Order: sequence, then structure tokens, then C-alpha cells
Amino acid sequence: MPLAIAVCVKRVPDTAADKILDPDDFTLDRDSVEAILGPVDEVAVEEALRLKEAHGGEVTVVTAGPEGALVKAARKALSMGCDRAIHLTDPALHGSDALAVAYALSMVLAGRPFDLILCGSESTDARTSLVPPALAEFLGLPGLMAAKVVTVDGAAVRIHRERDNGYDVIEAAMPAVIGVNWGANEPRYPSFKGIQTAKGKPVEVLGVAEAGIDAARVGLEGSQSRVLGVAARASARRTIVVDNKAGDAHIKLADFLQEEHFI
Ligand SMILES: Cc1cc2nc3c(=O)[nH]c(=O)nc-3n(C[C@H](O)[C@H](O)[C@H](O)COP(=O)(O)OP(=O)(O)OC[C@H]3O[C@@H](n4cnc5c(N)ncnc54)[C@H](O)[C@@H]3O)c2cc1C
Repeated sequence: MPLAIAVCVKRVPDTAADKILDPDDFTLDRDSVEAILGPVDEVAVEEALRLKEAHGGEVTVVTAGPEGALVKAARKALSMGCDRAIHLTDPALHGSDALAVAYALSMVLAGRPFDLILCGSESTDARTSLVPPALAEFLGLPGLMAAKVVTVDGAAVRIHRERDNGYDVIEAAMPAVIGVNWGANEPRYPSFKGIQTAKGKPVEVLGVAEAGIDAARVGLEGSQSRVLGVAARASARRTIVVDNKAGDAHIKLADFLQEEHFI
């Protein structure tokens, strides 16, 4: 059965870049940093493309955010092989917390006939991991998180949910929302042809009103949580010197690792 797959992607600041936060509302100054497609979202996109290659169908990339979300995040997904994009963009969304983002995405996705909605398991900036399960809740769909393997069998989707010491096998009827974990696959590089054709692929641009989103439930004012302050982390680097004069360096080292709860 051909699959209609949506994959939600977020534009995030380059992990290696220094970030600047607006001193007034502590939102990220996204223009000051190089933006990229979220690394875990790349894994979700790859998973969506593999499912399409196995079953047929179409992959729609969905992103909420300013212009850069389309240019940096969605377009990379299109160049990897997604077929079309939906870009939700509106100044009213500025400062939305994870719940507000999930609500906004649910309004975009509700009523569209997707069999699967894939997300990354976490963004690499705010990293709340709240959006995928909240999205499932808003849509009233099963939410299968931390997926390391995703397979489709008839009308059901099955995942391997990663655990510290192994994995659970979980199944749900489609449609369903899946949070795809780091390492589920090795994302492909966009081909030259993929990059060339990405710009010509259809993009549906929506504002808050067009998506039927209640503006009072998004943005800084509509969010239920608020960042009150930020502080840089003190450097955690510490140097210890272990001498081996008594031939007991291995014991001292093991004691140190135990004291610091590494072992
Ligand atoms: C310093 C700082 C601290 C913050 N702290 C919090 C906080 O404590 N609580 C809070 O609720 N918000 C917080 N935010 C806001 C947060 O950046 C947004 O809520 C964010 O858009 C969604 O949360 P997330 O990045 O944690 O997503 P996650 O839930 O970690 O993202 C998981 C997946 O959801 C999908 N997804 C997430 N965002 C989008 C999007 N915009 N478009 C399409 N798909 C998406 C992607 O597939 C992504 O991989 C903070 C922001 C800043 C700058």
C-alpha cells in the first residue's frame, strides 16, 4: 500500500556555532548563527524516504518557523528526496514553546490523509523532546517514540523502541506519529540532481490564520512555559594527575572514576 508520509523538521542553529540569546525574551537570535536541518530530523527524513522506497507513496516535509526554516531545513529535506513541503510561518509564532509548536503543527496536519507522521526524537537546540508526543496527543493518534527501526506491515506500523539495555517491539494502527531516534540510519547526502530539483518542488506556505490556528495559543503570550533566565555553564573541565610511583595508578584511576560516578 503506498504511504502518505509527513516528516516534521526544525531549523536549528549549527551545533558548533556560538549562540546569541535575545536579552529581553531569551529567544534565540536565529539570524546570528548558521542554520541547519536538525541532525535527528535528517534521520527522520531518511527513514521516511526508505519507507517510501519500500512501499511507494509520497513524503511531505513540514516545518514551522521563519524563512530560514524553509531555506535551510525543508529545502535540504527536499533535496534528499522529499516530494513537497508545507511551511508554516508567521510572526505570531515567535517564542512559542514546545506545546504551542505541537498545537500549531497539529492544526497544519489535522484532516490531511497522512498514514505516518515522522519527527526527530529531539531538536538539538531546546531539546525538550516534547513536540512529537504532544503532536500525537493533539491529533488523537498513537505516538511511538524513540524508534530505532520502523517497519510497516499492512495497516500497522511497528517500531523498535530503544532502551538502555535493548529494545521493545511496539505496534500501532496507522495513522500514527513516530519519533525517530539518533542512529536509526545513516542519512543520505543530497545528490547534485536532488539539489537542482529541490527548488522546483511544490511548497505550500501557510500563516496562522490560514492554518486555523488560534493566535492566542501560540507565541510568547500563548505559551504555557517561559524562559526566565539563562546562564552559561561553568567549564566542567578538570585535570587530575595520577602518579604511578607505587605502581598503583590503575587503582587510583579506578577510584577516581568511581568517585565521579563514571563507573
Ligand atoms: C534557551 C531556550 C530554552 C527553551 N526552553 C524551552 C522549554 O523549557 N520548554 C519549552 O516548551 N520550550 C522551550 N524553548 C522553546 C523551543 O525552542 C521551542 O518550543 C521549539 O520550537 C520546540 O521545542 P524543541 O525544540 O524542544 O522540540 P523537540 O520536541 O525536542 O523536537 C522534536 C522534534 O519535533 C519536531 N519539531 C520541533 N519543532 C519543530 C518545528 N518548529 N517545525 C517542525 N517540526 C518541529 C522535529 O521533528 C524535532 O526533531 C526554549 C527556547 C530557548 C531559546
